[in-house]
Amino acid sequence: MMPDLHILLSSFSRIPHDEDRWRALRDARLHRAVVEAAMHCPFYREWFRSHEIVPTEIRSAADALQLPVLTRGRVRAEGLRMVRDDVPVDTCSQEMTSGTTGEPTTLYTRSSELRVQHALWLSGYLRAGLRPWHRQAKFIMAHKMPAKPRPYQRLGVLRRAYFPTAAPTVEKLHWLRRLRPDALFSWGSILSELANQLEQEQAELNIPLIFSTSDKLQREHVAARIKGRLLDVYGSIETGPVAWGCGVGEGYHIDPRWAHVELVDADGQSARRGAVVCTPLWRRVMPLIRYQLGDIAEWADTPCPCGNPLPRIRALIGRHGELLSLPNGICLSANVVAEAVWQGPGIQAFQFAQRSETESILFLVPGPGIPSNAVARVRELLTPRLASPVQVQIKCVPALYRAPDAKFRATYPLAMIERLRCAGVDVERILSQ
Ligand SMILES: [Zn+2]
Repeated sequence: MMPDLHILLSSFSRIPHDEDRWRALRDARLHRAVVEAAMHCPFYREWFRSHEIVPTEIRSAADALQLPVLTRGRVRAEGLRMVRDDVPVDTCSQEMTSGTTGEPTTLYTRSSELRVQHALWLSGYLRAGLRPWHRQAKFIMAHKMPAKPRPYQRLGVLRRAYFPTAAPTVEKLHWLRRLRPDALFSWGSILSELANQLEQEQAELNIPLIFSTSDKLQREHVAARIKGRLLDVYGSIETGPVAWGCGVGEGYHIDPRWAHVELVDADGQSARRGAVVCTPLWRRVMPLIRYQLGDIAEWADTPCPCGNPLPRIRALIGRHGELLSLPNGICLSANVVAEAVWQGPGIQAFQFAQRSETESILFLVPGPGIPSNAVARVRELLTPRLASPVQVQIKCVPALYRAPDAKFRATYPLAMIERLRCAGVDVERILSQ
């Protein structure tokens, strides 16, 4: 495998704007990823063979269109068969996706690869204006909160303070006012939550740099109350950073050296608007080749006014980050449900829907060997997070309902249910399963 230190250092290098150069670099990495996956991973070996793919012939992005698209469900089902056979499993660490899509996935990696992933995020943040001495604040799911600071953070470099995503909005705001961070990292939906609260208080917050990730950023709504440079980043745990919001033009620029990004139609072929499919080119212990992220996007077809010639996604269409509307005017990021569910033991998948402000239903798919108190535990974790008198009916089901013509969602806030009902979708089927 390529020396990790070399990758680590090159992640900080300047992105070549010359199209021939970045295409050559991306195609070489894509070719190597496909050849190595076929050589070392039992799953890819069989999968490519069954699709009559000759891995050595995949030399460019155009050739890669022959490869089938990989779904999240497939990754979950294949598990260890996707891991390289020359990497002993006992040297791997496991990484769990956040599960806000309803079903968490286990990824196998190594600490050297995790360092590369962190370096890719960091180099993007530095390019966007973050400095090592800045005081950083981040909202994070309670179970993902780091136990102790890293050694360099003790020395005041890249210091970061954390606060739970599930805390009441007023407490989050109080924390930010006290901390006065130079940079904030947050889900888009939590920024909306904060902006709502600030609107009620007729107040504003100043944070020089704000990075929005994970779900939809309601830019105008947030920018009206939180003053600072607001940058949306598109990425995931599986892929690392995929595209960085452009501060000047509309949309997101891709760094093609580390993520091969495609938009595809239902047949897996290139489309101007379509499903986002990404091959993270740095992920080599458990390669993800043509991995479907579950979002819909559209390419920009005009040059960006900022002058950056790299491919640009104009709009992310499928990304959802709506708020749950609860009694007493409380609005909360819908991701708090995922947080409660995944902290409880033995759950395989979930779906949550709001019938009204005061009534919701949570469907759980129990995993094998689920403890008998699992449902009670989820209720115990969820109730305080909703912070208002809400009745949540919890029902265990063998599988979740997937509307035939709509994207699968883990959470259906009230506003979304109402919109789907207006659009003629059979929402009763979602609410009753
Ligand atoms: Zn731009």
